[in-house]
Amino acid sequence: MTPSTPGLHHVTAIAGDPGDNAAFYVDALGLRFVKRTVNHDDTGTYHFYFGDGEGTPGTNVTFFPWSERGRDGRFGAGQTRDTAYLIRPESVDYWVDRLEERGVDVERTNRFDETVLRFEDPDGIGLELIGSDEADAADVATWSDGPVPEEHQLRGFHGATLAVAEVEPTAGLLADVLGYEREGTAGDRRRYRSAAGGPGSIVDLVETDADRGRMGVGTVHHVAFETDDVDEQERFRDAFRAHGRDVTEIIDRTYFRSIYAREPGGVLFEVATTEPGFDVDEAPDELGTSLALPERLEDEREAIEAQLPAFELPDAMGGGTPDEHR
Ligand code: ZN
Repeated sequence: MTPSTPGLHHVTAIAGDPGDNAAFYVDALGLRFVKRTVNHDDTGTYHFYFGDGEGTPGTNVTFFPWSERGRDGRFGAGQTRDTAYLIRPESVDYWVDRLEERGVDVERTNRFDETVLRFEDPDGIGLELIGSDEADAADVATWSDGPVPEEHQLRGFHGATLAVAEVEPTAGLLADVLGYEREGTAGDRRRYRSAAGGPGSIVDLVETDADRGRMGVGTVHHVAFETDDVDEQERFRDAFRAHGRDVTEIIDRTYFRSIYAREPGGVLFEVATTEPGFDVDEAPDELGTSLALPERLEDEREAIEAQLPAFELPDAMGGGTPDEHR
């Protein structure tokens, strides 16, 4: 049987300055800094995770901050254009005010009968807040110590918009491998929804004439879809291969197990397990408060910490460098 996914698990992008990145996602957007670790494949780079109060799958946006030395990316075909979070319809005005007070340009539109607030993060990564009735159905954990009142907090993903040169090949993979079905069209946007439905189950496809994008600061690295467990993940591996795509082995990412495959339009897809989650190495009330390293890197902790770029924690976490909080 073809496996199916409830929808997005996380979205990972390349940021510039780590302090600016954390300040925006925590202080402005009110997400919790649920994990501070390093890129397991490049330990000189941080890996930040921002999500709901518990880092629930379906709420987390993650970043590799390449700092000022990072190569700028270029948006183009084969990339994620926008990552959309759910908010309650009655929170729309709150968010327009909150973002504009912080000097963020917000474009307000309507799409599929929902209010869309589009803006960019400090590195130019496209974000949307969608005022939707689905927000109340989202199974998320609010962050009681966060800077945004709980009733207005982001409520996990609505979906993602992928820009590709041709819609059909990507649509075919979404249908055959991930179980997405076409739901509607709005202008040049085609909407697909995973069979499970519900919050975070949307992928929109738009065609672009732009050249193939170049990965770097200000671009999304990959989008991850959720799967129950490694048994189902194996079925996704088989489905990618049956669709003619190269797919990685199952990789242990400490907080989930992952496979990766590039879809025909060029977007890197990941399928990540629900478990074990972010409390595997930190207590739930201490998430993100120290540098978390996988067991195999613990021996190198001192050297790794010494080469990571300095940055200040968000004001909502008390500001100052991570060292000052030890
Ligand atoms: Zn990932």
